[in-house]
Amino acid sequence: MTAARTPVVAGNWKMNPADRAAATALAVAVSEATAGMAARIVVCPPTVWLTAVSEALDGGRAAAGSVAVGAQTMRAEEKGAFTGETSPLMLAGLAQYVIIGHSERRQYDNETDAAVAAKVASAIAHGLIPIACIGESADERRAGLTAVVIERQLRAAISRLERIAGSGLVVAYEPIWAIGTGDAASGEDAQAAAAQVRAILAESDPAGADEVAILYGGSATPENAAEYVAQPDVDGALVGGASLDAERFAGIARAAVEAGE
Ligand code: PEP
Repeated sequence: MTAARTPVVAGNWKMNPADRAAATALAVAVSEATAGMAARIVVCPPTVWLTAVSEALDGGRAAAGSVAVGAQTMRAEEKGAFTGETSPLMLAGLAQYVIIGHSERRQYDNETDAAVAAKVASAIAHGLIPIACIGESADERRAGLTAVVIERQLRAAISRLERIAGSGLVVAYEPIWAIGTGDAASGEDAQAAAAQVRAILAESDPAGADEVAILYGGSATPENAAEYVAQPDVDGALVGGASLDAERFAGIARAAVEAGE
């Protein structure tokens, strides 16, 4: 973390919670627990709860804190015959961020590098901030392919952008073997990946690369978060499991804020 960048801590609620009241209660609890923190706090509920959560947070202007809303995915196209999908136009007014290319979508919904490229460009074109996820599997890590996978996925994700500066792009390095396993990456691993990401971004746009928030994701907790955000190129976290508990999520955000001071 460097003081030049504002920390970003985003919660990926995945397919939780199961009902609307619990979703809005969690959003309000996050808003209260993170009130006053000098960080960009984002909650990413399931699509069906976006409206309720956005309303509960007053479109990111909740009285307690300033929590932004993110979608967990979207289609790149504005409209059309895409059963079950959500377009960037539909997210306008409900979400400020959108997670793109999460490994679970790559794995279970066949989200390809090409789809990620289209979605990242579309999100930016529609005024949304994409949180582009990249990261290697356990097999790829064992084969020594971590840097190769990061490079391939990142170059694809930015391939349809004219420039990085001003795009708002956020990149999340999420090694698949660390997601939901409790087997979190080391701070050194997170920094190596984040530095590689920033170096690739800097090839075409050095100033833009400095602006980009690079997050670590994978079993992040209040207990281990400080180790990540102490790294110079890690600017926050994308949080799964711990984001479902407002106090634990706020603990991660607190670590990020303290690292940036
Ligand atoms: C995620 O799914 O983005 C994630 C990081 O999950 P967890 O924190 O549960 O590992």
